[in-house]
Amino acid sequence: MNDCLFCKMVRGEIQPRMVMETDELIAFHDINPQAPTHILVVPRRHIATLNEVGDADGPLLGKLMLAARHIAQDRKLAESGYRLVMNCNRGAGQTVFHIHLHLLGGRLMTWPPG
Ligand code: 5GP
Ligand code: ZN
Repeated sequence: MNDCLFCKMVRGEIQPRMVMETDELIAFHDINPQAPTHILVVPRRHIATLNEVGDADGPLLGKLMLAARHIAQDRKLAESGYRLVMNCNRGAGQTVFHIHLHLLGGRLMTWPPG
């Protein structure tokens, strides 16, 4: 048993506002949304950062992105646009060390990000 927050969600010990569940990933609403839509797509398997992702995990990363795309389409964000973000390590803003893709949409995004 580890005390990783997102592993607790995967195990059902903490129940976020779930959006999607598959055998490999879960997706749920971020508790502190930075846009009208802010959903996190999280692999069930614990991987601390993108630095620990192996070459064999390419299909898993692809599934995170495709899940985000499906959720964006369901929520009618495909036309207006949306942003996918994965922060890697503290310097990039990562605070939960179990990889996750942020899906942000429903407002105009600026560039560069902060
Ligand atoms: P990071 O900063 O690691 O890229 O993103 C972590 C995200 O997890 C943040 O956007 C933060 O708001 C979200 N988060 C942290 N704790 C919880 C929680 O208990 N529940 C949910 N749903 N989101 C959380
Ligand atoms: Zn974890």
